[in-house]
Amino acid sequence: MKLVVQKFGGTSVANTERIFNVARIVTDTYKKGYNVVVVVSAQGDTTDDLIAKAHEIDLNPSKREMDMLLSTGEQISIALLAMAISKLGYPVISLTGRQAGFLTDSNHSKARIKKVDTERLEKELDQRKIVVVAGFQGMNRYDDITTLGRGGSDTSAVALAAELKADLCQIYTDVDGVYTADPRIVKSAKKLDEISFDEMLELASCGAQVLHNRSVEMAKKYNVNLEVLSSLQDVPGTKVKEVTKMEKMLIKGVAKDDDVVRISVVGLPDKPGIAFRIFSVLASKKINVDIILQSVGRDGTKDISFTVPTDSRDAAVEALNDLMENLGAHRIEVDEDVTKVSIVGAGMQSNPGVAAKMFEALYEADINIQMISTSEIKISVLIQKELGIKAMNAVSEAFIK
Ligand code: ASP
Ligand code: MG
Repeated sequence: MKLVVQKFGGTSVANTERIFNVARIVTDTYKKGYNVVVVVSAQGDTTDDLIAKAHEIDLNPSKREMDMLLSTGEQISIALLAMAISKLGYPVISLTGRQAGFLTDSNHSKARIKKVDTERLEKELDQRKIVVVAGFQGMNRYDDITTLGRGGSDTSAVALAAELKADLCQIYTDVDGVYTADPRIVKSAKKLDEISFDEMLELASCGAQVLHNRSVEMAKKYNVNLEVLSSLQDVPGTKVKEVTKMEKMLIKGVAKDDDVVRISVVGLPDKPGIAFRIFSVLASKKINVDIILQSVGRDGTKDISFTVPTDSRDAAVEALNDLMENLGAHRIEVDEDVTKVSIVGAGMQSNPGVAAKMFEALYEADINIQMISTSEIKISVLIQKELGIKAMNAVSEAFIK
């Protein structure tokens, strides 16, 4: 029998009416003769509200207890959705992450799935039940509840689709597919019929928030047939797959990541081994460095600048402070007033002039570029934070016709 995994995000199950709407989508699929596994997120802003509640008590609560708390959000959703599906007259059972067999490591709040033991789940499917699974959560080997990181329900769904060899994994959300840019802030954004795993991965890591990064990684690894579509409108969504047909479109997306800061180490001695020492100390603290720029040495000194995620700022500065005296650097500068705007597209590999076109669009919008980085299918620039939306629109208009 054919099997579909359908995942519904928080807005799709935000209230009773929406829950019944989801129940109808699920049972329509079931009626067509499919086995259906449903993965749900917490309703609406539940996860944010729970985090706020915890912070009323402690701004830095134990991560284990945080996972205990946040996992309740998804548990509410599975029970309510199962009730609605049952009310429509279909056989259904809800399962927590643990009951569905999600075994993870012990990295609370960012746990990684180690394996999914789907024996129980498959027994329920064999009885032709619709199985509703709590996304975002699992259990470690000590029997403690873990969560997979914000947005992690996508990864729960893809993991189940991979493990169960599902014919299709549908990610239902409040937009009707993957857009070239966030349509709420970029007027010229267009919906894509399809996008490759690699492009989707780059977009996700550049700040586009359609899919959880790890879900795309996993879908690529296990070649899961993935589709992003709307639970509120019955229109075709976006297919995410290994190779897409060659299109005229040079780029598939424009993304903005506000969650970066620029750190500069000024007045370093211009001699071998300096970059090595800086970046190895950051690596040892597990700090992800993104764009890197080193100035040309002058008068025996040079500067090295790089970006890190905002929440790594303090750790990075601390690590560098310890190193400063040893290196004989003059000072460390931190600039928070920056944002990273990126364009992504497999088409740029075989087309010269993409970078020039992006920089021209920024120049015409009078936007100064502070740093640049490129990869095979991505170009990122660092600019002043308040110009982020303007930059996205300018770049989008240049490329998306
Ligand atoms: N409820 C979790 C969150 O808000 C997980 C998810 O929605 O995927 O991040
Ligand atoms: Mg999400």
